[in-house]
Amino acid sequence: MVRKRYFVKLPLVQEFLKNVGGDAAVGVTDHYEKKGRQVTDEELAKKMKLKVTEIRTVLNRLHYRGIACYKKTKNKKNGWYNYTWEIKKKRIVELIIEEQRESIEKLEQKQVFGKNYDFFSCKKNCSVIPFEIAAEYQFRCPECGETMNSFDYNKRLKDINGQIEIMKKDVGQLQKMTCQENKGRKTQKLGQVLK
Ligand SMILES: [Zn+2]
Repeated sequence: MVRKRYFVKLPLVQEFLKNVGGDAAVGVTDHYEKKGRQVTDEELAKKMKLKVTEIRTVLNRLHYRGIACYKKTKNKKNGWYNYTWEIKKKRIVELIIEEQRESIEKLEQKQVFGKNYDFFSCKKNCSVIPFEIAAEYQFRCPECGETMNSFDYNKRLKDINGQIEIMKKDVGQLQKMTCQENKGRKTQKLGQVLK
């Protein structure tokens, strides 16, 4: 249970959910995790003090990315349809890891680029430009017109390295979390069989 609650608290997970489904996506996932079973949009709206239409917008966005899925059942009394929703945590993790991998790749490309070129920039660091282009501008910053000097790319490389390290750690943490959960589920199933 502790591990589950911790999942939604991870900044990486929160940021991802907000990007995909809007601010309320964090609350929706959190509520689903707390309940530990499928929830209806009405229930979520009540709990989060939002309009049902707002909740549906969030759920539809999550559904589009394969994170939320629903079951439709007909209410025999009034003939209306009820929708119960489930949030796929595994899918969230998959998508985050995918995104992180892409970002890491981009940063690594920047690293290679940074090692192979000499860079120039003005005092304000409006933009950091490779030598050839800086020469075309006659070493005047294209944005502010100040003189451009050689830029210390090593410092920037250190920052990039730091970013990559953090991202790799985050990915590792998420992978570990899902592995542990899968293990937990398997033992549970085994337990049921033994009974
Ligand atoms: Zn400038």
